[in-house]
Amino acid sequence: MSNINSRIRLVIHGGAGAIARSKITAERELAYRQALTESLAAGYAILAAGGSSIEAVIAAIAALEDLPWFNAGKGAVFNHDGRNELDASIMDGATLMAGSVAGVTAIRNPIRAAHAVMTKSKHVMLIGQGAETFAAEQGLELANPAYFFTQHRWDQLQRAIAKEQILLDHDEESSLSSSDEKFGTVGAVALDCNGNLAAGTSTGGLTNKRYGRVGDSPIIGAGTYADNRSVAVSATGMGEMFIRIAAAFNTAAQVRLRQIPADQAADNTLAEIAAINGTGGLIVVDAHGNFAMRFNTSGMYRGTIGNDGIAWTGIFAEN
Ligand code: ASP
Repeated sequence: MSNINSRIRLVIHGGAGAIARSKITAERELAYRQALTESLAAGYAILAAGGSSIEAVIAAIAALEDLPWFNAGKGAVFNHDGRNELDASIMDGATLMAGSVAGVTAIRNPIRAAHAVMTKSKHVMLIGQGAETFAAEQGLELANPAYFFTQHRWDQLQRAIAKEQILLDHDEESSLSSSDEKFGTVGAVALDCNGNLAAGTSTGGLTNKRYGRVGDSPIIGAGTYADNRSVAVSATGMGEMFIRIAAAFNTAAQVRLRQIPADQAADNTLAEIAAINGTGGLIVVDAHGNFAMRFNTSGMYRGTIGNDGIAWTGIFAEN
């Protein structure tokens, strides 16, 4: 009985990017740390009671989706057309079952829709209106597109468009990485008391994204992967590069096939991403409870909690 919650572990991220201590007020920092702590508490309550890693991942992510601070759910960024198109995915390391949704505009918690795709459909990925119809059929909470409006995300879009125009005027190529405000995607990885791993990721994508653009977050193997034989992984960063490197599967495959530790695998993957000019971060947990939170940006919102129930949070490189 005493070891019902032995080796449980939950690790979360709230996005990686150019997060300078000088640009964040003490109040804002506290709000972020509180939000991360609440997300950890939501997942921990499930794990400590003997619940599954999948349920813990959903609870931790849904808590962040409901806040305006993170680029997921309520706080999702706007695309070029002024719409919020959300992506999410989830994977069960015990069964290799997975589910995801992409480009959805009317589902309050895309992570719950991804889970429904995994458990209630024959498919792995549903997009756009089809995913929304499915979510409605499953009785998930829908949201009016106006629910996703936040002034700060709107202002970010206006700044991104203005910046892009300046680059165009100077005949310079606009790159996805020209936005300095591309962080806030959320993700979670967990190990439960039965030794099962799970991973999930949820995002609004990139500010000013175009034409039904889909990033890595809803793509199994790119933004999310979980396999009990190796690790659970959730990524954040420049989605295009994470897709090209198959970041999440790449990390898991290194652990499974080369038997290297989770943190080294994450570093190797980030080195591959850096080699193609990508930036971002990865959170990883293995079946023994070893975990890592790695990033090659100046900061990554992140946190972890284990058996002792003490939440740890970090934002900058030096915490
Ligand atoms: N990876 C996400 C995407 O490309 C964005 C992020 O993590 O900030 O859609």
